[in-house]
Order: sequence, then C-alpha cells, then structure tokens
Amino acid sequence: MRIAVIDRNRCKVKECGYLCQINCPMVKTGREAIIIDKETKKPIIIEDLCSGCGICVKKCPFEAITIVNLPEEIGEPVHQYGKNGFRLYNLPVPKKGVVGIIGANGIGKTTMMKILSGEIKPNLGGEAEWEEIVDRFRGKEIRDYLERLSKGEIKAVYKPQYVDKIPDYVKGTVREILEKGDETGGLDELEKKLDLENSMEKNIEELSGGELQRVAIAASLSKDADIYLLDEPSSYLDVRERLNMALVVREISEITGKFVFVVEHDLIVLDYLSDYSHVIFGQPGVYGVISNIKGVRIGINEYLSGFLRSENMRFREEIKFEVRPPKEKREFIGTIFYPKLKKDYDGFKLEVDPGEFHSPEILGILGKNAIGKTTFVKMLANVVEPDNTKLDLKLSVSYKPQYIKPRDSLIASLNLNTELIQRFGLKFLLDRNMKDLSGGELQKVAIVDCLSKRANIYLLDEPSAYLDVEERLKLAKYLKKFAEDNEVSVLVVDHDILLIDYLSDELMVFSGESGREGYASRPLELKEGMNKFLREMNITLRRDPETGRPRVNKAGSVKDREQRKKGEYYYVG
Ligand code: SF4
Ligand code: SF4
Repeated sequence: MRIAVIDRNRCKVKECGYLCQINCPMVKTGREAIIIDKETKKPIIIEDLCSGCGICVKKCPFEAITIVNLPEEIGEPVHQYGKNGFRLYNLPVPKKGVVGIIGANGIGKTTMMKILSGEIKPNLGGEAEWEEIVDRFRGKEIRDYLERLSKGEIKAVYKPQYVDKIPDYVKGTVREILEKGDETGGLDELEKKLDLENSMEKNIEELSGGELQRVAIAASLSKDADIYLLDEPSSYLDVRERLNMALVVREISEITGKFVFVVEHDLIVLDYLSDYSHVIFGQPGVYGVISNIKGVRIGINEYLSGFLRSENMRFREEIKFEVRPPKEKREFIGTIFYPKLKKDYDGFKLEVDPGEFHSPEILGILGKNAIGKTTFVKMLANVVEPDNTKLDLKLSVSYKPQYIKPRDSLIASLNLNTELIQRFGLKFLLDRNMKDLSGGELQKVAIVDCLSKRANIYLLDEPSAYLDVEERLKLAKYLKKFAEDNEVSVLVVDHDILLIDYLSDELMVFSGESGREGYASRPLELKEGMNKFLREMNITLRRDPETGRPRVNKAGSVKDREQRKKGEYYYVG
C-alpha cells in the first residue's frame, strides 16, 4: 500500500513550475501518476499509478511531498483529509476507566478525539455513510459506540488543548461561566478539588495559564456527558496541580463509569492517571495508526521502546533513560557564586539560599507556579535589585517566558540562528506569521529565539508545554550539547519531572506558597534535590525496571511505604 501526501501549505506551484510532475518517470512514459487539479492548480498524486520511486520527493524544493510504502494490514482506514491528505487508521476502544493516548504531535490524536465526539464523521478514506461506517467495524468494541454516535445518542465533552485561547471566545467571571455550564451539580466539589476558590470572582481574561487550565477541566467535568475527552490537561499546571488533576479525573471516571480519554505528553502524569492506553504511531502530518488497547504501563513502555509487541511493529528506535549515578566532581569552566538574596514586592517575599552554579551545566528548577523562579534569575541578571545586597555579576541572560505572546510578525523577522532553524525543523515556518502557528510550533520558535541570543545564562521557563514526548527528550539532549558547546549555564524551569530528571545536572527547589512567599534552596545534587522536592509533594518515585523511567508510587503501596521509611523519595537504582 502506498501513501502520497502533499503538504498544501508548503506547495508553491508558482515558484517551482511543477517540478514534481515534470520529473515523474511515470508521467514521462504517459501514465498520469501526477495530475494538476483544475481548481487549485496544485498537483495530485494518483497513488495507484505511482511506483514509489521518490523522485518527486527529491525534486520538490519545498519538501512538500512524502511517499510512504506501508503493509496492507497496517489498519482500518478511518479518515482522510482529502486527496493526498493526512490519514488515520483504526479507532480506539471506549472502555470504562481512563484511556490514555500517547503519540507525537500531528499524528492524528485530535482527529481521533473529533471522531469520538461526533465533530468529524469518519469518511473511511473516501466517502461513507453511517451505515457503512458502523458495518465496517462489525465485531469490534467500537461498533456499538459508533452506532450510538450515528443516532445522536452520545454526548461528548472536549477539553481543548490550547486553553490560552479560551478568553477569546468565552467572556465573564469564572463563577458566571462555570455555574452556567454546571449540569451535574458537582461544581462546588470541583472548585475545591481543583483549588479554584481564589479564582472564582476573577474575570476569565485575568487568569494565568494554570488557572485557565483548571477552569477548563472543571467546566468539562461538570457537564453530564457520556464521554470526556481531555486534550493535554496538564499544560501550565505545576506538579502538585497535575497530580491533583489526575486524582479528580480518576475519581469522576470511577464514580460515573463514563468513558474518559486523555491525550497527555507528561508520561508520569499519563501513567498516574490512566488505566489503559493506545499508542498512535506513524509519521506526523502523513499518517497515524492507533494501536490495540494496552495496559498503561505496557503502552508507555512499548511507546518508549519504539516496538509494539502485539502488532509486531517497530516504529522507531528505542528511547532510553539512563539511571545516572550521583555525578562525580567535574572540572567546570566557570562558576557563578551568589550570596543570600531577598526580595519583597507586591505582597510577595522571596528568599534564596546562597549557592553556586557552573558552566557548562544544566540546572533544573522545580517548584510551583508564582513562587519567585523568574525573580531569582532577574536578580542574577541585575534586572531586579535584591533588597539585602548589591549584586552585579555582569551576567547576560537570555530568557524564554512561560507564556508566549505571539507577535503579529513573520518568523523570518526574528534573528534566528541558522543551525537551530534546521535542528528544530523551522525552515518552512519562516514565511509564516507568529500568530498563525500552533502551540508546539510557537514553543519551538520561542526556544530557538532564546538560544539564538548570546548570553552567559539561558533560562527556559516551561519549554515542554505543547511539545510531544519525543520533542521534549530531543530538546533535553540538545540543551546538554548546547551548554557544553557554548560553555554556558542553562536553567530549565519545568513541571514535567521526567524531563527534569532526564536533563538536569543539579536541581534547585523552590518551596512556599504561590503569590505569597517563596524559598529557594541552593543548587543541589540531583538525587538530593529530587528527594527534597518529592518529600514536599508527598509522593515517592520508583523506576520502571524495563525502561528506567520514573513512575509515581501508589500512595500507601509497599514500595511507597518502603521508600518513605528509608527517606528515598526518589529511587535511583
Ligand atoms: S514517487 Fe515517483 S512515480 Fe510516484 S509520483 Fe513521485 S515521481 Fe512519480
Ligand atoms: S509539490 Fe513541490 S514540486 Fe510539486 S508543484 Fe508543489 S512545490 Fe512544486
């Protein structure tokens, strides 16, 4: 089976003169493997006539064409976005309990969610009526669900991925919005459990990303639905809020017995939250295949291993987590010492223990939102003056903020480093406006913008938001290389513990109460820092024996009790 996909945004016929068609050997011998659409004037590849030689792929100057050869039995075609468009194979299994969805960005997760919610009627790769659709899945667990969907008997609720856009289409105070949509009478409980008490009287436009996320989750879970579809519910939430959210979602699933599907890139949260999982594999923007349903541990492990056992399918190389022993003393090129720092402003107090960090080094920073992490770096950079001392370290800082406000300008107008453009795959975004980018694209542009500047310290605030698992781990690897090559310190604030565990040489832990007072430890050795942080979070982490990835222990389980007793909240070996 052959798939030919043309990215319509990249295809610029006026600038290339149909190089694909001119060079196609089938066309040259009179077989119309590439024709030109009369209306759009864009090429169409006729997959049945295409030999798969790949010449058009090489000739297209805008890398708009992808040709893939797939085994026939890859799956059941479910939906295709027009001729030479992205296509999705298979559907998930609605099961009582929480089903986690793991996969790269652009691989069909949103399409799958839209099909389950009834927003998209699957076209089976061409055109199809409901009768045929239901019939196609005869004997499969999804069949009854599709039949009910076709009769309008399924009420679905979808929590969107990009919560920052909510104030564009919903107006009013949080209380007004949530009370209006409360169909189950469960709002009071959700308000408490999701820590929304202090946000209820605020206007939706005043909310932080974390508050918006919690409001969106409360709005979804207070609806009386048959299926809840939650797209990246942990973005912008800090670690405690993530685990809290997971408990709330699990409870709703257990109490109501309704279907809950969650797309999530924080694997620790997904693991903690889900009973089952589906892996979606394929090629972003080209095709996606939904795997069989698996237990969540097996699903995540197979996803990381790149091999699906029951499907006997290798879809990429393995991602490994090194279990790192405590770091030996290294030679550093530079060491930055700072004294005790204090800052008191707008009702917020910050106290930072004296410490040192080095170059090259990655310093992970863990702590709640609004706890003084940015103020600390601004003090180092001499942008904010500490109250108790004068500090002029003569350090330049390049900063990527947590919330990225897209400017109304072309990406090309940013002064981005050419090598980084290649590495982060931004080449074809250069002629796009920042306002038109997806969350993941915007995140990558902001990271590259930050790393393109010359500085002594780079601070990346929540770089994982909207990036998928592979992108997160690639970023982590690259940041290590970047710090080494440029002999600089990279400070990474993130709430994805797996990412912080993967990339940090040392760890700084911020404690306290958001918006009131923050207390920062000195940079600690990774194990010591993780232990401190997890003790404060009141959770223990073990390592999965197969993959080495960290997993949250169930509260009160044998492992949890053992580790607490030994004071090993972070299990290294
Ligand atoms: S892959 Fe080869 S045969 Fe197929 S459309 Fe491209 S150039 Fe023609
Ligand atoms: S796909 Fe590429 S080679 Fe073909 S018309 Fe479009 S831009 Fe030109």
